[in-house]
Amino acid sequence: MVSIQENVSLLPFNTFGIDAKAKYFARVSSEGSFIELTQHPVFKNNKRLLLGGGSNLLFTKDFDGLVVKIELKGINIVEETDDEITLQVGAGENWHEFVRHCVQKGWGGIENLSLIPGTVGAAPMQNIGAYGVEIEKFIKNILGIEIATGQRKSFTKSECEFGYRESIFKHKAKNKYLISSVTLTLRKRNHQLNTSYGAVQDTLKEMHVDHPDIASISEAVMRIRRSKLPDPSVVGNAGSFFKNPTIHADLHDFLKKQHPSMPGYTSENGSVKIPAAWLIEQCGWKGKTFNNIGVNQHQALVLVNYGGGDGAKIFELAMKIKTSVKEKFNIDLQPEVNII
Ligand SMILES: Cc1cc2nc3c(=O)[nH]c(=O)nc-3n(C[C@H](O)[C@H](O)[C@H](O)COP(=O)(O)OP(=O)(O)OC[C@H]3O[C@@H](n4cnc5c(N)ncnc54)[C@H](O)[C@@H]3O)c2cc1C
Repeated sequence: MVSIQENVSLLPFNTFGIDAKAKYFARVSSEGSFIELTQHPVFKNNKRLLLGGGSNLLFTKDFDGLVVKIELKGINIVEETDDEITLQVGAGENWHEFVRHCVQKGWGGIENLSLIPGTVGAAPMQNIGAYGVEIEKFIKNILGIEIATGQRKSFTKSECEFGYRESIFKHKAKNKYLISSVTLTLRKRNHQLNTSYGAVQDTLKEMHVDHPDIASISEAVMRIRRSKLPDPSVVGNAGSFFKNPTIHADLHDFLKKQHPSMPGYTSENGSVKIPAAWLIEQCGWKGKTFNNIGVNQHQALVLVNYGGGDGAKIFELAMKIKTSVKEKFNIDLQPEVNII
């Protein structure tokens, strides 16, 4: 029987460190317990929020409904050849611990995604990515449970409609499915290493690594992240608050004349991706503090809660940043973080 608590503080359950309250709170550790919960009147009669590690959301107020903490565990081998291994991983497994497990076993592919907080089940939601790698490349399928019916559904990779920080679970399938497990295929040998990012190359050099492997790349990524990003256990944050915007090449050409130092990365279709951190910095926000909230002094894309901060105030700050970027560059920033 799943127990449902009332009036629970969400402070330990979100990396922004917001002390919002959930009217109801339950934990599920198996598909069966989730299906059982869907039959409960509290589940049926309230709005719901599925919660992983709480590292990609901002509570702007108390949650007037049921928060369901996903704790389904297990790493199972589905298929194995000399070259590849396919693993089915429970949604509640910690993502970084899973990456380290794979690196230790010699299973390659996701090492560039080391130290991203959160759970395995939430990773496909926004197709997590870092240092030239996105999770979609390794996904074989995703098992979900339809919330309205309790029916199981398997999503193939193409059905997930992955894009940059996007998937079907943020659009057509939003709030419709619990992701219960993720099945990924990794390489056991002939690893396809990705050291395309300058920071990764520089750190490997500092580590005196001439012939990188998945373990040294994972180590390099962890070093970079520890030096660049605030640790949520010390300063509340949810990583990048906004997505990097993609703009039309004509707008980029026009802006580049006014701002010659403006960085931009041209994609295959000709549009140009601009680092949101640069835009925010140009608008003067980097390092700005407003009482106990602010913009990180090293990474302008990260909004921070120094302690006791209010989620609504952080959202207000984010909207001011968005407005100033729109006014200066005519570019629309979109939050990467889920606003609750
Ligand atoms: C310091 C820091 C660095 C970060 N760096 C990166 C980075 O480099 N790249 C990157 O992509 N992200 C990054 N993030 C964002 C975040 O870590 C990822 O988005 C992560 O996948 C979120 O996982 P979570 O379990 O915490 O999700 P949560 O925040 O708990 O949930 C996020 C969303 O997914 C939904 N959800 C969660 N679990 C499930 C489930 N099982 N089924 C259905 N819906 C579910 C929730 O309802 C919510 O809408 C960073 C965050 C922090 C704090």
